[in-house]
Amino acid sequence: MENKNFENKNISIYIHIPFCERKCFYCDFLSFSLENIDDVKISEMKEYEDTVERYFQSLFCEIEKMSKYAAKYTIKSIFIGGGTPTSVSARYITSIINIIKENYDVDKNCEITIEANPNSLTEEKAKAYISIGINRISIGAQSFVNAELVSLGRLHKKNHIENAFSISRKAGFDNISLDLMFDIPHQTDESLKYSISKALWLKPEHISIYSLEIEEGTKFYDDYKNGKIDISDNFILRKKYDTIQHILNSNGYEQYEVSNFSKKGYKCYHNDNYWKYGEYIGLGLGASSYFKGYRFQAPNDFREYELYAKKSFDEIKKSVGVLSKEEEMSIFTFTSLRKSEGVDLSKFKEVFNCDFKEVYKDEIRVIEKEFPGATEFDLSKNSYFIRKEYMVNSSSIMCYFMNLEEDL
Ligand code: SF4
Repeated sequence: MENKNFENKNISIYIHIPFCERKCFYCDFLSFSLENIDDVKISEMKEYEDTVERYFQSLFCEIEKMSKYAAKYTIKSIFIGGGTPTSVSARYITSIINIIKENYDVDKNCEITIEANPNSLTEEKAKAYISIGINRISIGAQSFVNAELVSLGRLHKKNHIENAFSISRKAGFDNISLDLMFDIPHQTDESLKYSISKALWLKPEHISIYSLEIEEGTKFYDDYKNGKIDISDNFILRKKYDTIQHILNSNGYEQYEVSNFSKKGYKCYHNDNYWKYGEYIGLGLGASSYFKGYRFQAPNDFREYELYAKKSFDEIKKSVGVLSKEEEMSIFTFTSLRKSEGVDLSKFKEVFNCDFKEVYKDEIRVIEKEFPGATEFDLSKNSYFIRKEYMVNSSSIMCYFMNLEEDL
């Protein structure tokens, strides 16, 4: 859908750092470590370091290049994710931020987040991040139970999380998020509650909690296929989710998305922008963008990415085209349904010039039959949303609005 009104607007920037110290057993993110770097024909440490260096040179070039096309935009958030941004030298992160600040119009209140792994965040790195203006840190804790961390293939232990948290506070971070996981194999109700209580004890401003997904191509997928691990049925999953919602809500964390809870005033602007159909520029290996009405993704291969990073936006546009109105409506709807506030019906009408209820009347009827009471229209707020107790089933509900997914 061609949109002519992408001018003088706010935008977010995502930066992908595709390196990790080791591949976790459940991870299908685009990240490489020395252990599996053979996949990209690199077997020696020196070659790995050269790859890292060459990657950043291409990334810097891409950041600068895209700025030419974003001259009329104000950057409201920057998110440095991965992979593991803390696994690489802080000088690379410093250069990224400096290049963005030199080439883009960065809002003075821009939210700048970096993802951190507890075992690779050092005092020096945390101080370096603060000194260049990074103002939010998201620590991948996952669990406070050492046996669970080992079973996930994580390199850190519980004490590393506490240490990383304290390092971050001392360095000056007043906006810290902790990532947790539930439905980890062999995790009990008690151990889940224990991890949440330890997280609460640290008093982070924000908590994200995701259920473990078994993804093809991971060690967990093989274990699952071989009957070594199991996944919870919907009843158990809902029970765990209820526990999480109850504990976090009663401790002052408001749920604003399927997996995200925050203290008042600490929603993650960056992720909220995705769910609100905002524009974003993704920079780096495999990063996706939604920019000036175009949706495109950088290659997943290092060599191809080196060439792509130099391509003009006009060349990229030619190779991607634009999605249809129906496809964009579908994206708008299923991303909005992730949020507690759901689909903004007025905004839907404003963007697509048609009525949400009319467009999706069949889907809504089926959902009401399959998941009675799970969704609701709030006409006072002009919204359509998934009720909190059904959010654990949100992917099944969203599927009904993703009937065009195969064409995307
Ligand atoms: S640290 Fe994160 S990105 Fe890296 S392998 Fe583990 S889960 Fe994947």
